[in-house]
Amino acid sequence: MTIGAILSLKPNMEEVFRQLKALGLSYCQLSGPSELYTDEMAGNIRAITKREGITITTIFSGWPGPLVWDFIEGPITIGIVPPEYRMARVEETVKTSDFAAKAGIAQVATHVGFIPESPSDPLYPGVVAALRHIVGHCKKNGQSFLFETGQETPITLRRVIEDLGRDGIGINFDPANLLMYGKANPLDALDIIGEFIRDIHAKDGEYPINGRELGVEKPLGQGRVNFPALFAKLKQQGYDGPVTIEREISGDQQKKDILMAAEILRGLITQP
Ligand code: MG
Repeated sequence: MTIGAILSLKPNMEEVFRQLKALGLSYCQLSGPSELYTDEMAGNIRAITKREGITITTIFSGWPGPLVWDFIEGPITIGIVPPEYRMARVEETVKTSDFAAKAGIAQVATHVGFIPESPSDPLYPGVVAALRHIVGHCKKNGQSFLFETGQETPITLRRVIEDLGRDGIGINFDPANLLMYGKANPLDALDIIGEFIRDIHAKDGEYPINGRELGVEKPLGQGRVNFPALFAKLKQQGYDGPVTIEREISGDQQKKDILMAAEILRGLITQP
């Protein structure tokens, strides 16, 4: 397993990658505004990563339109589930895939949204069709498409992957999201979706304490995710891919929390 962090696409990527190196890391995920998806930027990323020995494991696609991270407006704003934003967001993900291909990135991830738990839900066929288009486009670019976990239960995620045919599809497993959305115990979720994991967000958090707001995010090791048990099980399942630290704050405290998380993760990864 390799430890990485999440970087934002910025005009000066030399500086962004320098900050990654300063954290003692050479693996990362990339996310960022699609306004910066230029050929020049892609070429620049390829050149710097090659020169510095940096690997970008996954690019994270964002999208236009409103976004509310809660249980009330989340289902009608997040991802490609809400029909009114679906087309624009599929196009955005396709754009991300094309940019990633030029930048030499082999995995494209995003939040698909609150995927309906019932396959009979009238929204379900449209969501699957949109995903089929995205997955097909990623495949043409030699990439896999990864679902970020959180807004749906593990069994619903598994069903969608089976309905899509598995090929070229994986999961970016975020154990904290499973807790913060109140959808699953991350440890048990591995029994249902562990085989599809291709990248991980090392993030910690708590279960929600009311029916409207997500649970809170915490520094790694201070929330409800049982990381020692999680890593023991990941190893048992044969996972040997990237582990990407996610800390949803900014500034100096974020840097400190990332360094602390990397220290904890190194210990867990090297444990027999
Ligand atoms: Mg995440």
